[in-house]
Amino acid sequence: DDPEEFRALAHAVVDWIADYRAGIAAHPVQPQVEPGSVRAALSPLPERPQPFDALLAELDRVVVPATTHWQSPSFFGYFPANASLHSVLGDMLSTGLGSQGMMWATSPACTETEQHLVDELAGALGLPETFTFTGGGGGTIEDSASSSALVALLAALHRADPGWQTDGVRGDERIYVSAETHSSLAKAVRVAGLGSKALVVVDPEPGGHALSPDALAAAMSADAGAGLRPVLVCPTIGTTGTGTIDPVRRIAEVAREHGAWVHVDAAWAGVAALCPEHRSVLDGVELVDSFCTDAHKWLLTALDASLLWVQDGSALPAALSLTPEYLRNPASESGAVVDYRDWQVPLGRRFRALKLRAVIHARGLEGLRAHLRGHIALAEEFAGWVTADPRFTLAVPRSLSLVCLRVVTGRGSEADDAATRQVLERVNASGSAFVSHTVVDGRYVIRVAIGAVTTGPEHVTALWDQLCAAADAVLAESR
Ligand code: PLP
Repeated sequence: DDPEEFRALAHAVVDWIADYRAGIAAHPVQPQVEPGSVRAALSPLPERPQPFDALLAELDRVVVPATTHWQSPSFFGYFPANASLHSVLGDMLSTGLGSQGMMWATSPACTETEQHLVDELAGALGLPETFTFTGGGGGTIEDSASSSALVALLAALHRADPGWQTDGVRGDERIYVSAETHSSLAKAVRVAGLGSKALVVVDPEPGGHALSPDALAAAMSADAGAGLRPVLVCPTIGTTGTGTIDPVRRIAEVAREHGAWVHVDAAWAGVAALCPEHRSVLDGVELVDSFCTDAHKWLLTALDASLLWVQDGSALPAALSLTPEYLRNPASESGAVVDYRDWQVPLGRRFRALKLRAVIHARGLEGLRAHLRGHIALAEEFAGWVTADPRFTLAVPRSLSLVCLRVVTGRGSEADDAATRQVLERVNASGSAFVSHTVVDGRYVIRVAIGAVTTGPEHVTALWDQLCAAADAVLAESR
């Protein structure tokens, strides 16, 4: 491991990344490749050392043509997975340091940089001070919103019954979600060993998709009356399908009556609270136990960086801490430090804070707000085009930078479903943009999630032109 060799090769790697990003718009956003083709094209693992150039050549020959270019400005699928180049640099520094931050003692800088970051970011988002270490709570960076939900559930199970650690789950636990809640909650329930019977899907508010506080109250009371234990409720700020924002305040008020933990999943939309004009998305968050938002979706930071805050800084360690002899150390025993191993499922952990710090250092919080505002403004304009065009309709109202639309054939919902699907397939097959879909109230919907790091007005206009051309072709064919 020679630092001088590294210096030379790293320059080549950085050049490769810069060239790739500079030319990214030339690639089809979604590759058209057959399953197995990448494995077949890769060279066997070599017995002897090979020149590094050959690896870069293989990237060009095999990897890039089979890559979905999430960093393309014309990527509008799912939710974005921002990997801004400043975050790439921060990630490089973190990997270069190569720390293992499982405990304060194994890398004080890793732990305290993260504590500093989450405390400051809580302030920037407008979270109450009780979510900070300074205020008795605390935050951490998990690998994913899925992990954040899992550890929140484990903390909730522990609070509901500390006997859980010795006796395991009882089978009477109940977890409340809506039909729109991300599947990571159902997975957390499964991983925790609760079984799908523990998952209660609460009805939506009449005529909408948000979790209904009244239906929640009825479900929780009925369960409690039947001797079951309401353990956790998960409202979502910005559901995956439609960007729906659940009424967190009223949900939390209902949950509190039953002593249930409230975990807010704001994986995509929570970061919008950095902008004061969108801070209302956090309404009621002072009443919840845990709050998660992913920096690795829309906040310019490469996977993985899921921000999780709790109001009770002792809740996660109480649920998760296990200390084998070899991890014992005076700092941990002093109680004066945070050991992040107790806030997550794995033991080892990367120095994730550095890439987020690099992004904020380079752009400033003002730059982060400009990034979010730019996309929201583009989505507003795009939604206006959809509304004004008889070939399309909004499936649900625009939510921040997410627009959900359907094609209108004038020949009924099923014909609209088929046409909408065909339009999506045409756009994606063209390679010039990528959109994804969902089903809302049984109807097929195209989701346009504006949020890639370099997406600008010209890319959104080009997508609109593509959608219109595809709709013209599909409508003409179906006549
Ligand atoms: N929650 C919501 C609302 C999401 O939209 C997603 C992913 O899109 C997730 C959770 C899962 O995120 P992660 O990949 O960080 O686990």
